[in-house]
Amino acid sequence: MVKSVTIDEIWRALDEVMDPEIPVVSMVEMGIVREVKIENDTVIVSMTPTFAGCPALDVMRNAIVEKLRALGIARVEVKTVLSPPWTSDWISEGARAKLKAFGLAPPPMHGGNVALYFDEPVACPYCNSTNTRVTNNFGPTLCRAIYFCRNCQQPFEQFKAL
Ligand SMILES: [Zn+2]
Repeated sequence: MVKSVTIDEIWRALDEVMDPEIPVVSMVEMGIVREVKIENDTVIVSMTPTFAGCPALDVMRNAIVEKLRALGIARVEVKTVLSPPWTSDWISEGARAKLKAFGLAPPPMHGGNVALYFDEPVACPYCNSTNTRVTNNFGPTLCRAIYFCRNCQQPFEQFKAL
């Protein structure tokens, strides 16, 4: 039965499901969860992974299903929506602050023009200095680049703009 659970409650529950790659932010805050619908007795959750072929896809799908089952929802359908593709602009303001506190420089807002971001200096999440340089464009995951801060001599990662 879905009747007793509201869409708001479902969104709140989903906001407790953390991004498997970055456990300090939820999939809702990352803009991965796009839509929640109730159709007949089924809750349909649409999600857009941060990049196509994301290996965490099954993990995310299972986490959503488990969370909603815990709310007493028996029938959950998770749809993967690849169009429009996920963009880092969908990351909420709150999540950007959490990424930074986690030591991961948040991606700049680019309004659809990703090329702009290459010209922008990346601020160090530890000291806010923009005296930084990229050391490796391919961090531990495709979504991240590794930087080095010349000011505080710390390496850090940036969540790439997508
Ligand atoms: Zn620094």
